[in-house]
Amino acid sequence: MFKISQKFDADVIVIGGGPAGSTVARYAAEGGLDVIVIDGRDPIGSPLQCGELVPTNEEMKRLCPDVPDVDDLYQTPDHAISRTVDKMHLVPPSGKPLVYDFEGYVLNRVAHDEFLVDLAKKSGAKYIVGKRVKIVKDNDVIIRGGGKYSAKIIVDAGGHNGPIRREYWNEKSLKIPVKFVLMDGDFGDAVELHFGSMAPGGYAWMFPKGQGANIGLGIQRNFSKKKSLNEYTEEFVSKYKGDITFTGAGSLPMSGTVKKFVKGNYMIVGDAAGMVLPSNGAGITIAMIGGRIAGQVICEHFKDGVSLNEYEKRWKKQMGKVMRNSKVSFKLGSIMFRLPDFMLNMLFNRLTKGIIWRAVTCRRMLWIV
Ligand SMILES: Cc1cc2nc3c(=O)[nH]c(=O)nc-3n(C[C@H](O)[C@H](O)[C@H](O)COP(=O)(O)OP(=O)(O)OC[C@H]3O[C@@H](n4cnc5c(N)ncnc54)[C@H](O)[C@@H]3O)c2cc1C
Repeated sequence: MFKISQKFDADVIVIGGGPAGSTVARYAAEGGLDVIVIDGRDPIGSPLQCGELVPTNEEMKRLCPDVPDVDDLYQTPDHAISRTVDKMHLVPPSGKPLVYDFEGYVLNRVAHDEFLVDLAKKSGAKYIVGKRVKIVKDNDVIIRGGGKYSAKIIVDAGGHNGPIRREYWNEKSLKIPVKFVLMDGDFGDAVELHFGSMAPGGYAWMFPKGQGANIGLGIQRNFSKKKSLNEYTEEFVSKYKGDITFTGAGSLPMSGTVKKFVKGNYMIVGDAAGMVLPSNGAGITIAMIGGRIAGQVICEHFKDGVSLNEYEKRWKKQMGKVMRNSKVSFKLGSIMFRLPDFMLNMLFNRLTKGIIWRAVTCRRMLWIV
C-alpha cells in the first residue's frame, strides 16, 4: 500500500464501518489508497439493528437495472445467509395477503457486516474500532476521549447521525423509529410486509430465518398519536407464537438522498446521505451501491484528478430513477395508509395487485406517476 498524501495519517478516513463505510474502504483500498476506518463499535455490526432482508443478486439486477457489476459488489457468503426466500406476502389488515415472487436472503446481519469488514481489510484498509468520532475539523478527525487522525478526504458513513452529516449538512430528514424482536419458532417460507393501522405510516414485517424469525415494525410518529412504538410492536409481535430471544431498535431515514453528497473534502454515504428506499426500507444494498461509487471516485480523484462530484453524478445514473420512484410511492403510501383499515382491505385486491407491487419495488406505478 502506498500513501499519496504524505502529510496526513491516511489518504482517506472513513467514519463508520457498516455496509456503506466498509464498501467505500474496500474499493478505495483496492485502488491502492491508504484507508483508515474508524468505528465506535467493537465488534462492528453488533448489536443487531436490522430486519435482515435483502434481495438476492438476481433480484437486485431486476430491481436496480442501472447498477453495474452486481456480483462483484455483493459477495454474501453462505454463513451470512440465514435463509433464502422466494415469496413475499403483502398483507392488509384483513390478513389476506397478496402473494408475489421475490428472491431474497434473510441474513445473519452480524456475520454479513463482519464479512464486509474482512473484505475491506483484505483489500488493505486498516480499522480502528471502539473509538467514536466527536467532530471533524478541516482534515482532522477528532476522537471522543482524546486522539486525532488526519486525511486528505474524509467520508462520513456513520449513519444519519454521523458527525459530518450532523455538523456540515443542514438538511432535515424524516426518520421512522423502528423496533424488532428475534423470535424462536416456525414461521413458514414467505417474508411478510403488513400495512394498516397496526403500523401507521410505516409497515410491519415478519421475516422467517433459518431458525425463528425477525419481526418488527416502523411508524410515522405524526400518524400515530394514540400509542407508542412499544405498544404497536408488542401488539404486532403478540400475533406470533414463540420465545423472544432478542429485542432491538433504531431508526430509518425516509426522505431519500440529501441534495449534495460532497462538500470540499467531505463526502457522505449510506444512511448519512439518506440512501434508504423509503417505499420498502431497504438500506443495506443501497448503502453498498453508494459506497462502491464513492470508493471508486476517490481513487480516480487521487490518480487522475477526477472531481469528487462525479460520485453524485454516477449515483444519479445508477439509482436516480429508483430513488425517485420510491419517494413517489412512499408519498402516495403515506396518503393511502391514513385510510381506515376496511378501505385498505378493499384496496388490496386482484386489480391493484400489480400497482402495489410496482410501488413497493420502486417502479413507476402508472404512466402519470
Ligand atoms: C431496525 C432496523 C431494521 C432494518 N431492516 C433492514 C432490512 O431488513 N433490510 C435493509 O436493507 N435495511 C434495513 N435497515 C436499514 C439498514 O440497516 C441501513 O440502511 C444500513 O445499515 C445503512 O448502512 P450504513 O453503513 O450507512 O450505516 P450503519 O449500518 O448504521 O453503520 C454506521 C456505522 O457507523 C458507526 N458510527 C456512527 N457514528 C459514529 C461515530 N461518531 N464515530 C465512529 N463510528 C460511528 C456505527 O457504530 C456503525 O457501525 C434497517 C434499519 C433498522 C434501524
